[in-house]
Amino acid sequence: MGINVCEIFYSIQGESTFSGLPCVFVRLNGCNLNCRWCDTLYAKEDEGSVMQIEEILQQLERFECNLVEITGGEPLIQKDTPVLVDTLLNKGYQVLVETNGTISINTISDKCIRIVDIKCPSSGESKKNLFCNIDILGEQDEIKFVIADKTDYDFAKDIIINTNLKHINASRIHISPVYGSIKPEQLASWMLNDKIKARLSMQLHKIIWHPDKRGV
Ligand code: SF4
Repeated sequence: MGINVCEIFYSIQGESTFSGLPCVFVRLNGCNLNCRWCDTLYAKEDEGSVMQIEEILQQLERFECNLVEITGGEPLIQKDTPVLVDTLLNKGYQVLVETNGTISINTISDKCIRIVDIKCPSSGESKKNLFCNIDILGEQDEIKFVIADKTDYDFAKDIIINTNLKHINASRIHISPVYGSIKPEQLASWMLNDKIKARLSMQLHKIIWHPDKRGV
């Protein structure tokens, strides 16, 4: 029993509406997908360390930071992740959970902020999107499309315009370029031309530090 943890680190939040804020990241090990442009392969390939929730709490305390993101890999493949989320919420942390959108989010508390990917075609995993997650999302939750090319952008645009995302404010719908695959200027130009109701989100940590740097 326990949770398989890849790494715990303190950094600047690089994505989401919390971008720019100091945040502690709990990166869990393992993933159910194989995205072509995965930038955290080590979270799937490394062995990680099995930790009890109490040990994770002890590590978090030393950072003296109230904002915690649970990410991966894919955090929802681990059975005790909902318990970790509840424990952190009960301790007064503000909790973000980033998930790849292919597993139901109804196992985790709606008191955390759920940041749900919708996988686009370039990932090679778009057929696994669990669209019923969209109906579960609350006003505080967020959606992210990671875009590598025009096909991805058109896929995201179609979902934003033609599916029921009205309960998610545009500021919480993120369109984020795959680093090095598409120029942000190009993506910005498409968004402005289409007057799309979403936010262009850059991965701030890849601008601050080297894009391959781990633990930031
Ligand atoms: S879901 Fe995330 S961790 Fe899993 S393969 Fe895709 S990019 Fe990598």
